[in-house]
Amino acid sequence: MNDSNSDPTFSPRDTAHSPTAASGPAAAAPAADAALLAALGAARPCLWTNPLLAPHPPAAVRTGAKDISLADVHAAHARFERFAPLLQRLFPELADSGGAIESPLLPAAALAPAIGLRPERGTLWIKADHSLPVAGSIKARGGIHEVLEFAEQLALQHGLLAEGADRDDYRLLAEPAARAVFSRYQVAVGSTGNLGLSIGVMASALGFRAVVHMSADAKPWKKDRLRSRGVEVIEHEGDYQQAVAAGRAQAQQDPTCHFVDDERSLSLLLGYSAAVLRLDAQLREQGIAPDARRPLFVYLPCGVGGAPAGIAFGLKQLYGPHAHCFFAEPTQSPCFLVQMIGAEVNGAGGNPSVYDYGLSNRTEADGLAVPRASELAAAAMRELLSGVYTVADEQLLRDLYLAKRDAGIEIEPSAAAGFGGPAMLTGTEAGQAWLARHGLTDVMATATHLVWTTGGLFVPAEEYRRFLARGEALAGSSARS
Ligand SMILES: *Cc1c(COP(=O)(O)O)cnc(C)c1O
Repeated sequence: MNDSNSDPTFSPRDTAHSPTAASGPAAAAPAADAALLAALGAARPCLWTNPLLAPHPPAAVRTGAKDISLADVHAAHARFERFAPLLQRLFPELADSGGAIESPLLPAAALAPAIGLRPERGTLWIKADHSLPVAGSIKARGGIHEVLEFAEQLALQHGLLAEGADRDDYRLLAEPAARAVFSRYQVAVGSTGNLGLSIGVMASALGFRAVVHMSADAKPWKKDRLRSRGVEVIEHEGDYQQAVAAGRAQAQQDPTCHFVDDERSLSLLLGYSAAVLRLDAQLREQGIAPDARRPLFVYLPCGVGGAPAGIAFGLKQLYGPHAHCFFAEPTQSPCFLVQMIGAEVNGAGGNPSVYDYGLSNRTEADGLAVPRASELAAAAMRELLSGVYTVADEQLLRDLYLAKRDAGIEIEPSAAAGFGGPAMLTGTEAGQAWLARHGLTDVMATATHLVWTTGGLFVPAEEYRRFLARGEALAGSSARS
């Protein structure tokens, strides 16, 4: 827990300069706002907006590895569709969805007052990825996509599928011949928990050996759930990044091992991006088509950055300048924010950590407890991201409680980070200044605010009740309007 000020009306521009930030590496950064750096270093909630945001996003985005475009979003979506009959067979919970791993779009007007969004500033919606089947979090999108892509490559290579095989043929991949091939390969990943759950569950369902390298801070119930599904869990001292490095090093020694690299994988990023095609249909069903008069604001919890960057990339491809994407990070783990500030000042080369800013990387939001951002995700977001804001743990827990009370949804602390966004943008001086600069002030009444809730389905009831009780106590002690 930290000593942050979680008042949503806080404006970073009001803070005095603090010695914490002045002694950090960013002190050398003349272009970064001193007050913002002070708030960042003192773990107080703040909003950073991106000076490099492109008025009209380019059709292809440079990621270092490869340029990506809307065609790649469609390709990832098509891969999920090819695998749907197989997934339906492997997972009983997908019987009704035809093998699609999807979540609803929920109206949430009743929650708007409690999170500080006034009706004249737009309408609140929730993209309910906390309820995604199979993995119980947004990792179902990226993680499962990468395992499917690997399985598909092997199946083609080993003649298990004919080139141009049709959807129904993919059910063959559940047969003994395919499983015998897959069992000779290992899928490994380093994870704080949720990515391990999605990769481990999917890899073992297909017959791969699955190994998850976990950091010491991963929740015990996540380790237990994986082990009960036949996944090997290797625990590492230290943080998430050290678990990834250890897993990566081990995988390099073994040619039959595919390592899912959360910091470098384009397959993960594109798996997340596919979410926007279903979302687009859901918005249309509600009569929402983002344009200049009806802007779409999307608030995405951010860990290493792959999930929110994949989705933001897809949204900008679909809606161009009418989608405004903001990432949400814990005040103690704002790795994407420090990455973007570094990139702004030093060019794309640096990869700073939150420790460089004197922060602890300790937070209840275990899905977001990442010290260093993915450089791939940061490169993709360079001109597409509108901004990043930070949220104190107290506010995460309070919003977790309010989401249950006013929207009836059960989420984990990480998944609550998006709820701080509408007030940060519409209720603070820094947010309002940004809206004015982008000519949005007068169209806010017809804006759509979409909060992406990213995990929660598999949180054990006992653990959830503890979060809820803490959140309720915090909501009672610091009501906001
Ligand atoms: C992983 C995760 C995120 C963020 O995804 P990144 O790719 O790490 O940025 C957000 N919410 C939850 C619940 C997660 O597990």
